[in-house]
Amino acid sequence: MGFRKTVEFCMLEQAQRILKDVFGYDAFRGNQAAIIERVATGGDVLVLMPTGGGKSLCYQVPALLREGLAVVVSPLIALMDDQVATLDELGVPAVALNSTQSPEEQRDIADRITRGEIKLLYLAPERLVQPRMLAFLQRQRIALFAIDEAHCVSQWGHDFRPEYLQLGQLAEQFPHVPRIALTATADRRTREEIVNRLHLQQAERFLSSFDRPNIFYRIVPKEQPRKQLIGFLAERRGDAGIVYCLSRKKVEEVAAFLSEQGFPALPYHAGLPSDLRAFHQKRFLNEEGLIMVATIAFGMGIDKPNVRFVAHLDLPKSLEAYYQETGRAGRDGLPADAWMAYGLQDVLLLKQMLNNSEGDERHKRVEQHKLDAMLALCEETRCRRQALLAYFDEELPQPCGHCDNCVDGVQTWNATEPARQALSAIYRSGQRYGVGHLVDILLGRDNEKVRGPGHQHLSVFGVGKSLSEGEWRSLYRQLVARGLADVDLDGFGGLRLSNSCRPLLRGEVELQLRRDLKPQAPKASSSAASQLVRGEEREQWEALRALRRKLAEEHSVPPYVIFPDATLLEMLRSRPSTLAEMARVSGVGARKLERYGEAFLEVLNGKAEAPRAVTDLRHELISLASAGMTPAQIARQLNCTEKNVYSLLAEAIGRQQLSLEQALDLPEELLGEIQDAFLDGEGELPPVAEIADLFAGRVPDGVLHCVRAALQAEFEV
Ligand code: ADP
Ligand code: ZN
Repeated sequence: MGFRKTVEFCMLEQAQRILKDVFGYDAFRGNQAAIIERVATGGDVLVLMPTGGGKSLCYQVPALLREGLAVVVSPLIALMDDQVATLDELGVPAVALNSTQSPEEQRDIADRITRGEIKLLYLAPERLVQPRMLAFLQRQRIALFAIDEAHCVSQWGHDFRPEYLQLGQLAEQFPHVPRIALTATADRRTREEIVNRLHLQQAERFLSSFDRPNIFYRIVPKEQPRKQLIGFLAERRGDAGIVYCLSRKKVEEVAAFLSEQGFPALPYHAGLPSDLRAFHQKRFLNEEGLIMVATIAFGMGIDKPNVRFVAHLDLPKSLEAYYQETGRAGRDGLPADAWMAYGLQDVLLLKQMLNNSEGDERHKRVEQHKLDAMLALCEETRCRRQALLAYFDEELPQPCGHCDNCVDGVQTWNATEPARQALSAIYRSGQRYGVGHLVDILLGRDNEKVRGPGHQHLSVFGVGKSLSEGEWRSLYRQLVARGLADVDLDGFGGLRLSNSCRPLLRGEVELQLRRDLKPQAPKASSSAASQLVRGEEREQWEALRALRRKLAEEHSVPPYVIFPDATLLEMLRSRPSTLAEMARVSGVGARKLERYGEAFLEVLNGKAEAPRAVTDLRHELISLASAGMTPAQIARQLNCTEKNVYSLLAEAIGRQQLSLEQALDLPEELLGEIQDAFLDGEGELPPVAEIADLFAGRVPDGVLHCVRAALQAEFEV
């Protein structure tokens, strides 16, 4: 073995030790070891790895192996804070510099860096390239530069950050410092842009498979979307997830609807005030089992690893978007679901939006192709995963066995003749009617709408009685998805023939279509995520989660920063009974063992009462209240008295976890009257009892308690 080999060998051994001692993991995954070796020995690398692949370790381990400060560039404060909190829990000295810190705080951080007390420094790109910052870093020993979310340098992507363009200068300014760029965006064009703009021509490239094997894909025909969504969610109670909708209005409506149905849901879209948006995002990260109903504005920066499902109520406009959005599920590697309901209306809407969008013809054509690829996945008859990966130039040799098409099987049928009839109905009625009318004609429905234009005399009137309404609708949807019929973009969703339907009409080709499955009661096997914890395990699982939540609250971090779900799950399965056994659980490093090992052992060995403490109840209460439920509804949901709900609400308001508006829906005048009553006297706020008579019979005393708590909170700050 040569000298270099020996060095590398020792290095890898050391890396292994750090992996176990600090992070608590037993083995590197995929390319991690090779990447770490290369960076630790001073080389540049470009890492292309899907979400959840484990990119962070690729620079965090070298940061600990090399001498000096590792500088990590990240585009969002939320992402940085999350990483710093995670490292902090692991006992790794890391800090983030950002504009919200006071000059003193910033100076303190600079001092600690100079003293060599910090291993990782997280920075926004605009901060890093300030001349003063660069000069400061020139005076330090730098272990490496990590450029996270490196695709932000690409002008073609939707996450473009102009500040990223300036990061190219690091190559010149710090020629001897290794640089590692990481992204989960794999397409070739973005990759080359990253290399060119960041001057990474010498970098070794590590390209991982972009498959997300833990995600189960399912796409269902949209019939009664809300009912279908509830059916999907019912099997996933208590899981955190995202429901994507196209419009802000729909986001609000669906969030309200879910709350009414007892699913704690929050809206998120660009039209909400930014502090409310930030508040909802924070709650989504910090609490368990919340559903975020969102437009695509809710995107990058969601690092929550235990998002158990992503549901689409509207069609994304490309496979790139679909992959990215569904990819937010299951970062932790545990089973997760990507579910979508899709119908003809989606196609019409997106085609119309496309047509009305700005941009030249060429751009529109590109977008049209992207939409077509998305539609093709919806109507796909083979394995969805194979089709999805093929679009990104990756070949999966076998059907995956983990998508709806693989599990349920797909029935196709020869639709040649009915398709001709359907097209003929479009043509003969003048190419301007929507699907509802066309189906009426085919089924021979003798109603006013059909009679008006005299369509009961058409030769196709009533020729389609052998198929059901649902089958005809499915057929029209597939004709449009395949481009055999076009949507009238200026009108009201009328259909017309497209050029490509000629061979079919002339009888030159056959048409095989997908048969929509009858919606059925979901089989147990149809849901991957709900299988996570079963029956008798459930109680202990909840106990472990409750302990984690309590610790998270004490440390002011999201629960997953204490331990990820996968670690809790392994505790549940491997049942460690001593600290030594606990240390063997994946995800339990030295620091966490010392801090939390004992407490979790106690819960596992049944020595500790699960802290299903009031904290749980409080959490749920806050979720439900801010999701818009009334105190009476909450009381029913939580199975406690209304009076109790009011006093917990008042408490939450007092601690500013909830605003008065979120808690209660009071008419403005009444609210003013109550506030005046409290503020009438001098000095201290009077107790509720003193003013209760004024409002007897008009509002429950609990309301007064809430208003008082809000006033008090206001005065304290
Ligand atoms: P990415 O940034 O690529 O989306 P992360 O770095 O957040 O992924 O890692 C995803 C999850 O996988 C994290 O919970 C992380 O702790 C875990 N993880 C990463 N590498 C390993 C490993 N070698 N063994 C076990 N878990 C790992
Ligand atoms: Zn499959």
